[in-house]
Amino acid sequence: MSASHQAPRGTFDILPEEATARARIEAAAAELAARYGYGRIETPIFEDTELFVRGVGTSTDIVRKEMFSFEDLGGRPLTLRPEGTAPIARAYLEHGMHRLPQPVKLWYLGPFFRHERPQAGRYRQFTQVGAEAIGSGDPLVDAEMILLLDELLRALGVAELRLRLSSLGSPAGRRAYREELLAYLRAHASELAPDVRARMEENPLRAFDSKDPGTREVMAGAPKILERLEGEDAEHFAAVRRLLEQAGIAYELDPTLVRGLDYYTRTVFAFECERLGAQSEVGGGGRYDALVEQLGGPPTPACGWAAGIERILLATGERREPHAAAIDVFVAAAEGRREGALALVTELRRAGLSADLDLAGRGLRGQMRQADRLGARRAVILGADGGATVRDMATGEQRQVDPASVLEAVAG
Ligand code: AMP
Repeated sequence: MSASHQAPRGTFDILPEEATARARIEAAAAELAARYGYGRIETPIFEDTELFVRGVGTSTDIVRKEMFSFEDLGGRPLTLRPEGTAPIARAYLEHGMHRLPQPVKLWYLGPFFRHERPQAGRYRQFTQVGAEAIGSGDPLVDAEMILLLDELLRALGVAELRLRLSSLGSPAGRRAYREELLAYLRAHASELAPDVRARMEENPLRAFDSKDPGTREVMAGAPKILERLEGEDAEHFAAVRRLLEQAGIAYELDPTLVRGLDYYTRTVFAFECERLGAQSEVGGGGRYDALVEQLGGPPTPACGWAAGIERILLATGERREPHAAAIDVFVAAAEGRREGALALVTELRRAGLSADLDLAGRGLRGQMRQADRLGARRAVILGADGGATVRDMATGEQRQVDPASVLEAVAG
């Protein structure tokens, strides 16, 4: 019998089995933070909406469409915190921490809220552990931050980690680069996907995130920020790289690394875990030298990161998706090929793969959404024309395959 009430979409209950694994993460974070000299901070679950609008930026997805905002009984606009950096910068100013020896090093762990489309590894209430060092522009801080997150993820047993690293330069350099990129995008506007075109004026860097093949082709030839770093920005980045190399931290330079928050300057980084599929980022962050000033404080360089506890648990196998287990293949079928879909799924299952198909009469679009919800690594689309296409759900890449040898195409 199903209960008449369920946890709201994109949220979940933490049951005792998982509570133990979570407590282990919190204990490891507390122990490491203490060793690295970070003190714990806890800010309220909700803040004035204006803090996020000013701090996170109006061109970000977070502020445009993902905030859980409401008015309290006195009519004050409030928002459930979508991220931790702006509230901590606010607390730093409110408590006069700029008068303490700098940088002030803080860490946190708690729930965050974003109105995103739920899927494997992406929720509307999720838990982040994060760290911030406010009040120093020294590249040593960037390196220490990355070392801290690297050590935490390794201590927790997150395997197959990849570190992507880039620099966005100073606000002035970033603005100049933004104009250059925008001019390039305008010149190629007709080749870009409509959604990229629609928001390129506001946030041209996000075009690097697009999975659309036409857009990707254009972006391959786009000017890259790392080629434009100059003077102190270039020196700063070179120092961060040197420090990481000395510390034996492997990284990949990725000039297309774009983070979904507007406040980043200079160093940005992300740790990814391949086995997580579409939502592969476990944690990331960077420098935000302009944020504190933007919130009304003195010029104050700072650096920080956040990592998702649920993604860590998924990566270590200590969390099962409450909605569905991740599967190898979802077979989607056009009208008229549904019987063929069952035959194929059976063949795949007999070969040892986890495979599933639509059992609810959804259209092709709905079937692809279902594949996404199930966390499928690949989808096989049986088209009305008799053909078969394999889609990599993480990258969006598609290729036609021989309908008689789909198993060979998806095995491995
Ligand atoms: P961000 O604050 O966007 O830089 O994200 C930092 C980390 O938080 C990501 O690497 C994820 O591990 C995690 N995260 C962000 N958004 C979500 C979400 N909607 N659901 C689960 N984890 C998330």
